[in-house]
Amino acid sequence: MSFTLHGIGVSSGIAIGVARLASHSHVEVAHYVLPSQYIDKEIARFDDAVNTVRQEMQTLRDQIPANAPAEMPAFLDMHLMILDDSMLSVVPKQLIRSQLCNAEWALAQQMEQLVAQFEAIDDPYLRERKTDVVQVVERVLKVLLGHPDNLPSNESNLADCILVAHDLSPADMINFKRQQFAAFITDVGGATSHSAILARSMNITSVMALHNALRLIRDNEIIIVDGQQGVVIVDPDDAELEEYQLRQNQWRIEHQKLKRITTSRATTLDGLEIELHANIELPQDIPAVKVSGATGIGLFRSEFLFMNRVGLPTEDEQFEAYREVAAAMNGQPVTIRTLDVGADKPLGDLTDHTLNPALGRRAIRLCLSELTLFHTQLRAILRASHFGKVKILIPMLSNLTELQQTYAAIDRAKASLLADNIAFDNNVAVGGMIEIPAAALMANAFAERLDFLSIGTNDLIQYTLAIDRADDSVSYLYNPLHPAVLQLIAMTLRAGEKAGKPVSVCGEMAGDPKLTRLLIGLGLRKFSMQPASLLSVKQQVLTTHSSEIHALTQKILKSTDTEKTEALMVRLNR
Ligand code: PEP
Ligand code: MG
Repeated sequence: MSFTLHGIGVSSGIAIGVARLASHSHVEVAHYVLPSQYIDKEIARFDDAVNTVRQEMQTLRDQIPANAPAEMPAFLDMHLMILDDSMLSVVPKQLIRSQLCNAEWALAQQMEQLVAQFEAIDDPYLRERKTDVVQVVERVLKVLLGHPDNLPSNESNLADCILVAHDLSPADMINFKRQQFAAFITDVGGATSHSAILARSMNITSVMALHNALRLIRDNEIIIVDGQQGVVIVDPDDAELEEYQLRQNQWRIEHQKLKRITTSRATTLDGLEIELHANIELPQDIPAVKVSGATGIGLFRSEFLFMNRVGLPTEDEQFEAYREVAAAMNGQPVTIRTLDVGADKPLGDLTDHTLNPALGRRAIRLCLSELTLFHTQLRAILRASHFGKVKILIPMLSNLTELQQTYAAIDRAKASLLADNIAFDNNVAVGGMIEIPAAALMANAFAERLDFLSIGTNDLIQYTLAIDRADDSVSYLYNPLHPAVLQLIAMTLRAGEKAGKPVSVCGEMAGDPKLTRLLIGLGLRKFSMQPASLLSVKQQVLTTHSSEIHALTQKILKSTDTEKTEALMVRLNR
């Protein structure tokens, strides 16, 4: 029977496909009591699952290429050891017998016990090993539950599949860049979580915060995902299918039409030039940038080079990635942001696992306390600056001391390259992200000392309104039009103008066509966004008369009444 789930639409479009349940980070396990005559069979089922996983891991280990980093076989050996430890391979069987329960439940109970024991360990390295236990247990659970592998990966016809997950980490999403699902839906997540941003960057329809999708949807069920409305229809009837097929076609036609403006200049009706740049995560995103007609990279989130791998990328590996992007952009600007891990982009032991990681040692704070890591990255970026118009962007600045320390680190990296006789652009521009309210309030001081500013509205909103951007329970408070947010943006734009330094917006606000006119009216001339949003934003630019919207945008800036703001926004976008 058809039913509908409501969530947050984070990447638009309409997808109709077959559900594929993934339980990568959260395996749902049912509990049932078994009649005693089934216990031996259940124990055999458990042994079979452990054997299957052991074989899978041994095959993986045998297939590791000879030139792979040494950590890779070591990592698999450790997982094999965990699997064969009696705590996981024997104790669950005792639980099945003593509690007359199903194998999944016994294993999940034992995992909880072990995780609790690991969490009590003081040593942070050992404490983190609980993650390995969870990963091994999840593999066995998936075999028991009949989901053969982690996340669906090698299916031939993923284009018809809709991935249903409890949660998807940014690292998971990056893995999917190589695959083509029709849509993603998840139980948790906020509209500007990094996973949502990645769904948009992949141009894949996506709805998050559905709460019960993984529990209510079954593998192979037909589902419709409406990424605009944030609606998922499970097992639709014929009339619903027909209606959504029609809407899907209309959406595709509109997108097709937009392609006509790919090569047009982004100029307002009264001749104001607007720069539209792209945000990327990996060099593989360059083709999408080219298709979008972007005239530069306004934000290269370099942290994604550090994910889904064993160990940190070397200077040469990083250099190769930055050089590839710089060269591909043919002299157009490439703004490489230094490592911004932490909060909802964890990186193993390097990042905090404290109660409030978003307020912890993330981004520039982490780099300034891990100077060797920072030095390696700065050298790699500087080396790439010899091959294109590279700029350096510093995330999460909150005070001028951090800026001084960053300049000192850049100087050290330059000096070491000079000593090694390696070429770089000595005048490489250095910019700062304005994404903490403190930085926006003192934007004048930052503008004086930096070559450019870039407003990270995702974090600026998170920190101004004190809401976790990845937490859907407070996403109703996430409001780019909040007067305090608009004031901080306007203040930063004024600071840039006063100091004669360019200011861009590279947060999700820049890619929302409903906000394009407002931002132009506030004085923004440089936008950087997911390539998939660029043509819709350009369309807005082309139909905007900048001097005509000035008065209305000033009214919106001054408004403290939500309803009035919304009414003014409707007028502005008419
Ligand atoms: C932002 O905070 O707006 C931003 C662009 O950075 P990120 O989304 O990667 O935190
Ligand atoms: Mg940010």
